[in-house]
Amino acid sequence: MLQIRSLSKTYANGVQALKDVDLDIPRGMFGLLGPNGAGKSTLMRTIATLQEPDGGSIVLDGLDLLADKTAARRTLGYLPQEFGVYPKVSAEDMLNHFAVLKGVTARGERKELVQALLQQVNLWQVRKRKLGTFSGGMRQRFGIAQALIGKPSLIIVDEPTAGLDPAERNRFLNLLAEIGEDTVVILSTHIVEDVTDLCPRMAIIASGQVRLSGEPREAIRALDGRVWKKTVDKAELAGYEQAHTVLSTRLVAGQPVIHVLGDAAPDAGFVPVPADLEDVYFGELRKTAPVAAIAGA
Ligand code: ADP
Repeated sequence: MLQIRSLSKTYANGVQALKDVDLDIPRGMFGLLGPNGAGKSTLMRTIATLQEPDGGSIVLDGLDLLADKTAARRTLGYLPQEFGVYPKVSAEDMLNHFAVLKGVTARGERKELVQALLQQVNLWQVRKRKLGTFSGGMRQRFGIAQALIGKPSLIIVDEPTAGLDPAERNRFLNLLAEIGEDTVVILSTHIVEDVTDLCPRMAIIASGQVRLSGEPREAIRALDGRVWKKTVDKAELAGYEQAHTVLSTRLVAGQPVIHVLGDAAPDAGFVPVPADLEDVYFGELRKTAPVAAIAGA
């Protein structure tokens, strides 16, 4: 269990990226969902001991990560948002190099480890290829292999699916799900489906604050019976957005289909729809918007 308490961070330019963040993260996949600028990377880098918070604590199974960074780094694996590699080095050589850096000094042990990891992330066939020739998905899987060196009990993955095509994304998420069973894996993302498909627990973060944390299923259940759908004209859209809590707008065959939150149907054209995680997410983000200003306009 990873316990985060009162974590805060204000950058030198005055941006308050984390405001008193409290989170309990058990073993398994944990989705950290939030829009760009929410503070996800700041949180991920702080947990990875790569930057200092202004205050607060992070404890993993009794180990104070901020107080003992050397021990912390031994137990964690990190896949950053931008994972730089030497383009002219082969996957196998690079992984071998990372293993040396992480202290796997015995040559035989290291060879076995590198082989096992390349097989686990399904890059064994292409191990001799230069990393510069890898697709985005292959590079992310290589990043996971690197993060798994040393059998970490905490794995931090920051926005891993952003540039991936659907097939690569699936392969990558399946890989994460496999390693997520007896490890704490934190997946930060702004893509709702990444969490829906994969994470038994989650938190929504916006403007540096945790808005909601728990099980996606329960958050969805809390909205049941309160989400309404209607196909509207483009010209009507602004009016609906002013008068109602519009959760989402999707274009279906060129026409906007809106989801609205409310205890009753806003008008005759609305039909009830089962809530989903996207409704939960946009509902929480709406709460942070200046609703009063809209109502008074
Ligand atoms: P996310 O990963 O959710 O997009 P970030 O943690 O990257 O969010 O950023 C949170 C806020 O902090 C943003 O407003 C961002 O502009 C700001 N920020 C991030 N890094 C720095 C930095 N090094 N210096 C100043 N502001 C920063």
